[in-house]
Amino acid sequence: MYIHLQYNSRNSLKKVNTSSFSMKTKFNFAQLLIQWSIENPRTLPWIAEKNPYKVWVSEIMLQQTRVETVLPYFEKFIKAFPTIQSLAVATESQIFKRWEGLGYYSRARNMHFTAKYIVNELNGNFPNNRAALLKLKGIGRYTSAAIASFCYDENVAALDGNGIRILSRVFGIAENPWTLSGVTYFEKQAAAILPKNQAALFNQALMDFGSKICLPKNPHCQDCPFSFACKANREDRIAEFPIKKTKIELRKRHFHYFVIQDQKNNFWIHKRVENDIWKGLHEFYLIETTKKNLSKRVVQQIFGKLNSALNPEIILNFSQKLSHQHIFTYFYAVKPIEKAVQADFFLVKQENLKKFAFPKSILVFLENFIRL
Ligand code: SF4
Repeated sequence: MYIHLQYNSRNSLKKVNTSSFSMKTKFNFAQLLIQWSIENPRTLPWIAEKNPYKVWVSEIMLQQTRVETVLPYFEKFIKAFPTIQSLAVATESQIFKRWEGLGYYSRARNMHFTAKYIVNELNGNFPNNRAALLKLKGIGRYTSAAIASFCYDENVAALDGNGIRILSRVFGIAENPWTLSGVTYFEKQAAAILPKNQAALFNQALMDFGSKICLPKNPHCQDCPFSFACKANREDRIAEFPIKKTKIELRKRHFHYFVIQDQKNNFWIHKRVENDIWKGLHEFYLIETTKKNLSKRVVQQIFGKLNSALNPEIILNFSQKLSHQHIFTYFYAVKPIEKAVQADFFLVKQENLKKFAFPKSILVFLENFIRL
């Protein structure tokens, strides 16, 4: 059965009687979308995958991360941890090493927690429906719907940023997708147009269409099968849909890393254990400030008693924006120190540094100066 859609006065979707329609608004969105995806197949390792563990890994990695970035990580991760059991018994350090550079490390930590939970509490059986999946740590509305539809053929729409963008533009939906009520609204509308028993196809097609045609900026409207009906396109209001997230002021943090070695060129590093960004990753000796300038007095207090060089020069700086923070990182070289600057620091040979997981800024430093 075809479902036809019309805009009501509040720019929302509404099922209507097909006989009263003009051809401009009468079209079957789902079937056009699926047709497009059949004609434009995508080959990615997780497409058409039915194994919930692999789908879960790919979906978590793809959160806020581009497909091209995820591809090599996905392959490496699945090679290292081919089953949920292997992930459950791995150490956090082993997992972080495979996640190193991908960012948003809480995703990896939550996956580890959930893998252990499924193996220990659910006999290794992945929950097979959206409601049960939603109860797992790190699995939200989108990911639960994606796993349920792709692996268990549950009739549920999975709306990520791509799906929201397409629906809001085609149907001119002016609800705010950054609020719970907004997401619920989009999900309801998607459920109304979801073709029966084709949820997996529909969801995959939405994602592919959003990453190939209806791009966030400069969408390819000339190649779009919906251009004749797309409200945003027809009214030249593409930039208005979907409603943008209110910009938040990023917290600025200045990280001053002192790259300290001993006389044998081993490196002093430690593990971040505080509940803060990069928990579980390793780093050099850090002094954090709220402004760029670092007081010489502070450096003197810390390093003076260890007979190191004072007035160290910045040898590299690096800036990185995270979701809520802007991190400015500066690296300084100091003369060798034989004693640990702090109790939790330990020495690592240069050739062994690659065994540890580091934040991206330190990886950049190591690649440029140590050439691991
Ligand atoms: S016409 Fe343009 S904006 Fe509308 S759905 Fe197609 S690509 Fe997106």
